[in-house]
Amino acid sequence: MSGGGWSCPHEVGGNCSKVNDQPCDPGMKGCELYGRYAFFNDDKNDRLRQKAERLRAPAAEE
Ligand code: SF4
Repeated sequence: MSGGGWSCPHEVGGNCSKVNDQPCDPGMKGCELYGRYAFFNDDKNDRLRQKAERLRAPAAEE
């Protein structure tokens, strides 16, 4: 995860010092960004989108 214009302070040589030195995968479980930001990888936006849709949905839907 380098060269993308952003680098995480937890990334050390491509591995995550925060998640057991596993290969850095921004947004993976355990990553400090998990669930907090939208990602370029759209898969990881699902959570955010579902949340947003739930907020938008009429309360009467149940
Ligand atoms: S997985 Fe997340 S916390 Fe870990 S180095 Fe990558 S961006 Fe940082």
